[in-house]
Amino acid sequence: MSCKIDYQAPADLLENRIVLVTGAGDGIGRTAALSYARHGATVILLGRTIEKLERVYDEIEAAGGPQPAIFPLNFEGATLHDFDEMARTLDKEFGRLDGLLHNAGLLGRITPFDQYDPELWEQVMQVNINGPIWMTQALLPLLQNADDASIIFTSSSVGRKGRAYWGAYSVSKFATEGFVEVLADELESQPNLRVNTLNPGATRTQMRQSAYPGEDPATLRTPEDIMPTYLWLMGADSAGVSGQKFDAQPPRQS
Ligand code: NAP
Repeated sequence: MSCKIDYQAPADLLENRIVLVTGAGDGIGRTAALSYARHGATVILLGRTIEKLERVYDEIEAAGGPQPAIFPLNFEGATLHDFDEMARTLDKEFGRLDGLLHNAGLLGRITPFDQYDPELWEQVMQVNINGPIWMTQALLPLLQNADDASIIFTSSSVGRKGRAYWGAYSVSKFATEGFVEVLADELESQPNLRVNTLNPGATRTQMRQSAYPGEDPATLRTPEDIMPTYLWLMGADSAGVSGQKFDAQPPRQS
């Protein structure tokens, strides 16, 4: 597992690239969307809370970035039909996709397995893995239309080593790691399309605060701090790298 925390992205790294970011309204996804736009990408902002997406849209416009697009979608209720519609809309609008950052995620509950609510378990699996998988299937033809496309799935340290009480969240991240190995192997003969996993590591967001309520957020790296690896994996400097596991920061104890 490697980390590209010292990568310095050229200002035009993502110029003329169309990049879709899920969960783009808050946390790491919001920062990734702003950062990709700052490096020239036309960003498609996908998420479930439209007001948050609109705020990111306005920030990109105010910074003089390429005009983004908003795609409202809640993974919880999303169907195969929704993903097909999405692919049709993006095909009509852009004709291809150069990047896809699967970032949206749901923590669920940190609780012993014998008390885990089955309905919540299903929700977490739907948002963190099932929805993203079927969305990827629908968007593959658009990604294959690009000269150099990158798919990034967001993982977690508990997707690489199980930890007590992390339940569905941990299992969904293990599934993410497994799915990426399968897909990367299938895409081996397509050098213009790569797929990798990225573990952001402990990062100052709402989700981290919910998981570790007693922790001082000031001790954590910010989403901005971990952007070098997000940029490197999305841009041409990582062309040819597929089926790998990355960390966006050096590991810490929790
Ligand atoms: P966050 O601040 O809670 O943001 C999560 C994002 O996902 C939000 O934009 C949220 O939208 C969106 N989302 C949640 N449920 C959704 C749904 N049903 N449909 C569509 N969008 C949905 O979390 P974060 O810390 O930035 O996490 C981003 C990713 O990094 C996640 O995959 C997480 O598992 C992973 N991660 C984070 C850490 C960390 O320390 N922060 C560590 C390891 C892995 P709303 O704002 O509208 O709710």
